[in-house]
Amino acid sequence: MSTSELDAVAPTATRLLVGGELVDGGGPPVDVVDPATGDVIASIPTASAEQVDAATAAAARAFATSSRTTPAERSALLHAVADVIEEHSAELAALESLDVGKPWPSAHDDEMPLTIDTYRFMAGAARTISGVAAGEYVEGHTSMIRRDPIGPVAAIAPWNYPLMMAAWKLAAPLAAGCTVVLKPSEITPLSTLRLAELLADVVPPGVVNVVHGDGPTVGERLINSADVEAISVTGSPATGMAAMRAASQQIRHVHLELGGKAPVIVFDDADLAAVVQTIREGSFFNAGQDCAQPCRIMAQSGIYDDLVAALADAVGDITVGHPRSDGTEMGPLVSEQHRHRVAGFVDRARADAEVVTGGTGADGPGFFYPPTIVADAGSNAEIACSEVFGPVVSVSHFADADEAVAAANAGRYGLASSVWTADTGRAMDVTSRLRYGFTWVNTHGVATPEMPWAAMKGSGTGCDMSVFSLESFTAVRHVMFAH
Ligand code: NAD
Repeated sequence: MSTSELDAVAPTATRLLVGGELVDGGGPPVDVVDPATGDVIASIPTASAEQVDAATAAAARAFATSSRTTPAERSALLHAVADVIEEHSAELAALESLDVGKPWPSAHDDEMPLTIDTYRFMAGAARTISGVAAGEYVEGHTSMIRRDPIGPVAAIAPWNYPLMMAAWKLAAPLAAGCTVVLKPSEITPLSTLRLAELLADVVPPGVVNVVHGDGPTVGERLINSADVEAISVTGSPATGMAAMRAASQQIRHVHLELGGKAPVIVFDDADLAAVVQTIREGSFFNAGQDCAQPCRIMAQSGIYDDLVAALADAVGDITVGHPRSDGTEMGPLVSEQHRHRVAGFVDRARADAEVVTGGTGADGPGFFYPPTIVADAGSNAEIACSEVFGPVVSVSHFADADEAVAAANAGRYGLASSVWTADTGRAMDVTSRLRYGFTWVNTHGVATPEMPWAAMKGSGTGCDMSVFSLESFTAVRHVMFAH
């Protein structure tokens, strides 16, 4: 896309998708703000309570048909969704860049391939679902084990990768034969509402519904609907708890992908340049607003000083700027409220730790915050243990593997982690002891739809991507025939 085409991208898709119809929201509007300028770029009506109910009712009606589709039909549907996104990928990515402040062309080149491939992978995965056994386990009877779609799904997505998270929320349930009511974050609804418009012509009525609105009203109404059988959330632990509370009232299934605080355990024998390059690229990608962000660096004592010095150098020259300016590596944070939150973590950390780069100069229009390294952070310090979700990395030190593993496992989060060492045996040992859903060795942040984005402990239940994500949207059933 040329600069003038990018500038011309406008949030014209503002309608909800309910039962196959595109309808204007009947609830109060929510302002959408350009994070790079602070300007309001749209004011979009949210769903009324009746519209949320209509969406869940439509999903329940459509389930009668979607649950009876063949794997080949589900596969074709998922490919059709991927095709329409691919066809409009430049426009969708431009909306994403505008809404979240993502640098262009990264919003397109780095995020759209995985978004599209998630649907394509699930188009294949849909055809792999099978039961396990058929046989005579009781004399005179034949048993079979089926895996059947669980029912309509209430799906809740966050603001950091709106379209990719929509893919993670939609593709697996559709592959399983479920129907979905999806709610994007009220902060960043633009690309998902455009997707809803595109899907109106692609997906049978009621199979995918999209409602817009905030958590306490539209979100709560959706997850408490009597029509849904499962609640799938990607978001903060607080929203995960809200989902569990709602599920407990009606005995519904929950699938949660929540926050993270990824430890990066760097041993003395690690490749220093590779660690620094990965932190420079990975920790500040999307302005650090990433659940797997390598943000909690734990360096062994022998490499600690060199690592801190090299990180301060490398991170200090990251180009922060307007998402559509040439050469911008990092854009703004998503909102003023979030910038305050991030700055608060760094300001509180100053009492016991050292800010070696960044941490100041965050004024002006737009919600910019500089890439920041906080060194000498204690293992239990807030900056080392709480999810900041911004361009901030803490560095602390450890003496040996036992200390590193104990510190990493001590917190409530259990999503991403990485281990850096030249010693394969040590990597095997340490990775086997970490209680994290995924652990990279000598890299961090590489994702592919074949592999699970898995959560442990307070980071959630189950996983996104991979064939294992289908388990959250299917039920194991036993059917027995008397001879
Ligand atoms: P958030 O929890 O504030 O919001 C996420 C979604 O939940 C939004 O759509 C919001 O409207 C909705 N919501 C909020 N309260 C609700 C309620 N009571 N009922 C129903 N819905 C409700 O999270 P966020 O700020 O949008 O996203 C950041 C968080 O998401 C971080 O913690 C991050 O780590 C996490 N995240 C996790 C993954 C993962 O794969 N594990 C991926 C991306 C983001």
